[in-house]
Amino acid sequence: MGKRKLATICAQGEWNPKNGEPRIVPIYQSTTFKYDSTAEMADLFDLKAEGYFYTRLQNPTNDVVAAKIAALEGGVAAMLTSSGQAASFYSVFNICQAGDHFVSAASIYGGTYNLFLVTMKKLGIEVTLVDQDADEEEILKAFRPNTKALFGETITNPGVCVLDIEKFARIAHSQGVPLIIDNTFATPINCRPFEFGADIVIHSTTKYMDGHATSIGGCIVDSGNFDWEAHHDKFPGLTEPDPSYHGLAYSKAFGKKAYIVKATAQLMRDLGSIPSPMNAFLLNLGLETLHLRVLRHCENAQKVAEYLQQRPEVAWVHYSGLKNDKYHALAQKYFDGGRSCGVISFGLKGDRSVSEKFMDSLKLVAIVTHVADARSCVLHPASHTHRQLSDEQLIEAGIQPDLIRLSIGIEDVTDIIADIEQALQQAKK
Ligand SMILES: *Cc1c(COP(=O)(O)O)cnc(C)c1O
Repeated sequence: MGKRKLATICAQGEWNPKNGEPRIVPIYQSTTFKYDSTAEMADLFDLKAEGYFYTRLQNPTNDVVAAKIAALEGGVAAMLTSSGQAASFYSVFNICQAGDHFVSAASIYGGTYNLFLVTMKKLGIEVTLVDQDADEEEILKAFRPNTKALFGETITNPGVCVLDIEKFARIAHSQGVPLIIDNTFATPINCRPFEFGADIVIHSTTKYMDGHATSIGGCIVDSGNFDWEAHHDKFPGLTEPDPSYHGLAYSKAFGKKAYIVKATAQLMRDLGSIPSPMNAFLLNLGLETLHLRVLRHCENAQKVAEYLQQRPEVAWVHYSGLKNDKYHALAQKYFDGGRSCGVISFGLKGDRSVSEKFMDSLKLVAIVTHVADARSCVLHPASHTHRQLSDEQLIEAGIQPDLIRLSIGIEDVTDIIADIEQALQQAKK
């Protein structure tokens, strides 16, 4: 059988029950796993044998779900994390330590911004932010001898800017570092960054992948393409002996899976942040319909974006599905069918009170700190998710202070538009 298609991977991927076994991925709600001999257990601790011993490091339910996401992205290995934040952190911390530096697009999710600029700085890891739309020479200026990675979001939250992934991959590889992409908003249904040169992909599975707003979660996927050995001077943590595993070197022992094995064996072992098997199970239920939901989200968002664009109350609309959008051409290049996601950002004419009145008047579309789930919702980043940022920092992160982030769900689009219409009327009063 040839390589399976995305819809098939979503519905059945990476769970192949044998005769008489459960059709559905079982929830292995167990912290521990039994062995017959001390020697077998010792080999697991030394990474000499593959197997489960303690759920802080690995759990069978989680691994089936991680393997499904790896298959969707076209990667060689993946690891689930207890949140998208943990995925972002581990993806960088797995290859950076105190004294190291990395480069990131400035337009990134608010939580990632704080993680990179505040918390990682306390660990001695520095980041330089770049304008992702700048030309290559300009972005290259941010690199230093101790730079270890380049980071960006396929579609930025909440500015919905589309990243030129091939440009970023060229820049990263010219500097001998991997490109890490947060593919949360696009999902592998619309975009698979490995096909354009990205090396590592991360997700907040909390969003479209779960899709039902039940479980916080994250995932890190490795393409297996980055040659750690060729840049061993930069990545000794992957290529040189690890004293905490009797001198094992990940790149030599695990080849293309070295990065994920290291993240599991070191970061999960020492820091935790593994999702519960129950949450992995719920995530898998979401993944089973991801290919259906994403299409509906995009179809609805396209209609809402077109509606907003022709309303006199609306000052501006950003959605790459719109023909006059700044990122339309990049969306056509990188996204299947030019589809981006269900999230639209827009601004209303008038001051902040108009936006507040508009949001408070919505009935079907709810004000929630969430995005990208089945139910339509709305948020004002400047007063919610990005509250810690000054107006200048907001603009640097690609967010106008008047930006309203509208996440279009899978309801009937005529009901969504009717709700927006009545709220626009209310906001005028
Ligand atoms: C929500 C989000 C995150 C953080 O994920 P959590 O699951 O909330 O920890 C990271 N990146 C993007 C693009 C997000 O939307």
